[in-house]
Formats: sequence, C-alpha cells, structure tokens
Amino acid sequence: MFKHAPIRVTLAFPNRYSVGMASLGYQVIYRMFNQEEGVACERAFLPDDVEAFEKGGQPLPTVETGRAAGNCELFAISVSFELDLTNIIRLLDIAGMHPLREKRDDSDPVVMVGGPLTSSNPYPLTPFADVIIIGDGEQIVPVVSEALREATSREDFYDLVDGMPGVFLPARHTHEPKWATAPKELLPAYSQIVTPHSELSNMFLVEAQRGCPRPCTFCLARTMYGPNRNNQAQELLDVIPDWVQKVGLVGAALSDFPHTKYVGRTLTDRGIKLGVSSIRADTVDAELAEILKAGGLRTFTVASDAPSERLRRWLKKGITTEDLTKTAQISRDLGFKGVKVYMMIGLGPENDDDISELIAFTKDLAKINRIALGISPFVPKRHTPHFADAFAGVQVIEKRMKRIQKELRTTAELRNVSAKWAWVESVVARGGPEVGMAAYSIYRNESIGAWKKALEEVGWSDEFETNAAAIDLPPGQYASGEVSAHAQGLAV
Ligand code: SF4
Repeated sequence: MFKHAPIRVTLAFPNRYSVGMASLGYQVIYRMFNQEEGVACERAFLPDDVEAFEKGGQPLPTVETGRAAGNCELFAISVSFELDLTNIIRLLDIAGMHPLREKRDDSDPVVMVGGPLTSSNPYPLTPFADVIIIGDGEQIVPVVSEALREATSREDFYDLVDGMPGVFLPARHTHEPKWATAPKELLPAYSQIVTPHSELSNMFLVEAQRGCPRPCTFCLARTMYGPNRNNQAQELLDVIPDWVQKVGLVGAALSDFPHTKYVGRTLTDRGIKLGVSSIRADTVDAELAEILKAGGLRTFTVASDAPSERLRRWLKKGITTEDLTKTAQISRDLGFKGVKVYMMIGLGPENDDDISELIAFTKDLAKINRIALGISPFVPKRHTPHFADAFAGVQVIEKRMKRIQKELRTTAELRNVSAKWAWVESVVARGGPEVGMAAYSIYRNESIGAWKKALEEVGWSDEFETNAAAIDLPPGQYASGEVSAHAQGLAV
C-alpha cells in the first residue's frame, strides 16, 4: 500500500522488520493512517545492524519510498516491550532527530509514541515523546489525523488533541489521561501485510477478542485491554482474504472466546493452517485439540504461570495440576509432539518448596508427553495489584533457575529469560522520567553494568524492595502491614 498525500506519517518500530511485522497493532495503525484523507503513511524499522548502518552516514529510510524517515509531519513509534526503550532513543537518533523533546523545535516532526508499553507505563518515555498514546490506537488515529490536517503550528496541534481520551502531552501534563477504548465498530483488528520476513512467517493475523474477563492478578490483559470485547465469528471470517493460507487467531483470552472452535473448524475445512497463542489448560478438550491439529499445530502451548498450586491460587490463575495433566494427556492421545508450558518464578511468597513442586510435577508431566518449559522471572507491572511488589532479585532468580536446570535438564527442554534483563525490565516497567534519562545516557552502549551505573547517576533507588508479599495476604498487601495505594484502586 502506498499513496501520495500532503501529510507524511512515518510509522516506526523500535526493533527489526521481522519483529515489527509480527505486531498486529502496528499493522492496524499503518492501515488506518493510510485510510485517512490527505495522509500517507510509510514504515521504518531499526536496521538489523545499527552500528554498520550508522557508519554508512545515511538517514534511516522508509520501506515504501526510501525517503528519510524523519522527513515527515508525524513520526509515530509503536512500542511493545520495556527493553525497547533504548531502541526508541536510537531510532530517533538515526532518523535524524534529537531524541530529547526539549532539544527539538518546530522544524522537527511531532514525535508520537503508542503501543502496549505506553499504556502500561508511559513515564520513562516523557523526556522523548511529544505525544504519548494511552490505550487503543484505533481511537486515536482519526483524532490525530484531523489535527494534522487543521493545525497551523505545533502548539495548535497540541490544542486540537489536548483533552482527547488517550492523549498524553508530556509538555503540558504530569499524569496519564483516561485510556482510549476503541469502539466495537473499529474491530476486529487484522493484518494489512502478510510477509515471509516476519517472525510469524506468512501468517494473516486476526483479533478474535480484546481484554479478558478472568481475574489473574498479575496480568495486564484485564486492566489494560479491558473491557473484554468479543468479535462475532463471521466478522473474523469476513476479513480473511481468500488467498490466505495461514491464520493466526489473536487474543489474550482465546480459550474463553465462544467461537474459537467454529472459526478454527471453518478455516481448517478450507485447508487453512492455524496459529494460536497459549490456551488455558482448563479449557482444553479433545475437540479443540483435534481442530488445532488439523490446523497444523504440533505442540500445545499453555500457561501455568506459577511453579506451584498454592502460588497459582494466590495469583487467582484458576489452573490446577489436574488441568495441566489433562492437557498433556490429550496432547499425547492426539499425537501432538509435546506441550510448551510457560511460567514465572520469583513471585513474592515463593520459596524452595514451590520450586521442588515444579520439578516433581514437570517430571510427572514428562512421563505423559515431551515438555518444554519457558521460564520468565516475574516482573511486577503497573495497573496490576502487584505494582508495588518487590522484584525477587537477580541472585535469587538465578539460583532457582540453576536448580531447575540441574534437576530437569534430562527431563524437559528449558528456555529461560535472563534474570538480569528482567531486572532492567522491572525498573522500566515502574520507572519515571529519570529511568528514561538513564536509558538516554547509555543507549549506544547498553549493558547491565551500564544500566546500573546510569541508574545510580540519575539517583534511582528501588522504592519497592522491602515490600514483602505473603501467601496469606492478597496481592498488594504486604507483611509490613502496608497496602499498596495502587492495589486499593483495583479489584484484587
Ligand atoms: S493470564 Fe490469561 S486468563 Fe488470566 S487475565 Fe491474563 S489473559 Fe486472562
């Protein structure tokens, strides 16, 4: 898709092409800007080898026409992950703009940042962005496009968008605004471009539902993407073009979506391959497994999210060891190659007994089918009752991971996320502008050591480290008797 129009928008992604093109939100915003009268949107991505690119001395080009990405009226960035914070700064730099908002002037484009990270925690981005979007981008594109058509100056543009739901102007506001929630008529979200050069190669993505009705206390799906909105089966089928051979059904609560089986069966009957994110183990049955198998899935993916039954209860996860065992049995009976189980360690009340339970239970599961464990350190997020929980600490997590590795290395395939980088993620997930400035001082030479030094230099300290969560207290209440003000405002 490319059109010529007077208002040029660059939609940039702070990571490689293959990562950006696998983002459904990025693709939707790209289509919506190009549907706006007078607006032409082009894509730009961080080069695979940024150092080599910089040595070439050329400005970052757009994909569509190769024009300089920074040569536009609006430079919009979609960001999903905390650890892409330094990549955002780098992206602005190689696009020819000063990364700091205060150092740019009217000759620069308006820099707008949106995506899951800005809804979760916009504050580390406030030194860099002119506009930060909180919530569903679909509601914002028409508002911003209208303002771009009408504004005669940057201040005029700010006046036109100021006060709209989801629009956070760091130059004018100190607190994030009410979230933007896309009206039902703008859903479902679906792919604009299908490419083999995506991490989800040749897959057409369509969003079955947004939000989640479940109460898991650690998860942003119920708070950030809420309220739960289901699309109709026919609405999904209608947006899938005839030529598509692989469809990815997107949704945090896909297994609660009432039409998953119908849509899956309709597509597999047409010979279309399926992709799904993880399925809740308590909703897996033989019928669903057969549909997924007909759709080409060879492994089942479920989330256990905690190493033991008591911690799953504490998180209100609602999944039991029986559910996980049943999933493994169904996967074996239907000839799946194995089951992938995602979980977090480093939860507040966790101790060595919880890890012992994980090890023993994984050995039991592995007698049924092949097991792959994806283990991530728990990172408390804003907008959840765990907002003020202490991060477990790199040493504690590494010690537990080492034990799991030692005891399960011949039993299960193990994939661990680095404890040290999870610590950086936890700092960005709850940090303010000072964390953004620390990132700014190291974005060319990022390492764990550089982060520690930079955080010290900006005077950052861990205000949550003494908040000891306990199994007999709801998340957000601590052994010290403190109750997180944040948790008080959320249904725990
Ligand atoms: S963990 Fe899954 S089921 Fe629980 S709230 Fe999040 S998306 Fe919903």
